[in-house]
Amino acid sequence: MPRLIGIYGGTFDPIHLGHTNAAAEVQRKLGLDEVRMLLSAQPPHKNSPVLSALDRYHLLLLALKGSLALHADDTEMQRPGPSYMVDTLLGIRGSMPEARLILILGMEAFNGLMSWYRWEDLLKLAHIVITDRAGFDNNMAPTLKDYAAPFMTDDKSQLEAATHGKIYHLAVQPVDISATQIRQLIKDNKPVRQWLSDDCLEEIKRRRFYASTN
Ligand code: ATP
Repeated sequence: MPRLIGIYGGTFDPIHLGHTNAAAEVQRKLGLDEVRMLLSAQPPHKNSPVLSALDRYHLLLLALKGSLALHADDTEMQRPGPSYMVDTLLGIRGSMPEARLILILGMEAFNGLMSWYRWEDLLKLAHIVITDRAGFDNNMAPTLKDYAAPFMTDDKSQLEAATHGKIYHLAVQPVDISATQIRQLIKDNKPVRQWLSDDCLEEIKRRRFYASTN
């Protein structure tokens, strides 16, 4: 059986339960062999992260400690320059020609797809699974709807039948939080325990990450 590999990219500044719960639910519901939690070392579409890639990766390792199915992936830390997803997928595809690669994106991230570097190549390398994201408009943007239509399927077995090229929408339990909100709450000295793993929270406190400098 070819491997079914999920790829969940994010800036993870910091990693939170919105990310890990969604990734774990997709893994379970689609029976993926693993999900690679891919740190976007130099995100091309965002302002500079607050923490260095190394510190964000360290938090990622802490958050995934003990998880059998979700793995921290530092591939994009090994490459200089902007972290383009297409380059990462090309790398995986080169070493695993038969694997079923499944790029997992929240709807708001999918709606920004056309601004990604070589975005039209992504479906030549992987499937895309779209999850809903609490607190955002979860309708597909009209231009993307037109693009996506020929690739959409509501039959998840299609993801196993081919190495790439399908788009599947999967509902997940909503977790209404973003890393931006978490950084602000920490700065304001407000509780964030419910959205972070214990080890991750301990480390954030110990290193005074995101704390107010006033
Ligand atoms: P920031 O607030 O710093 O922009 P973020 O929390 O939005 O960060 P990233 O670390 O950039 O998240 O990760 C992006 C990926 O994680 C996207 O696919 C996005 O849809 C998904 N994601 C982030 N938060 C959630 C959430 N609460 N529920 C579901 N998916 C989420």
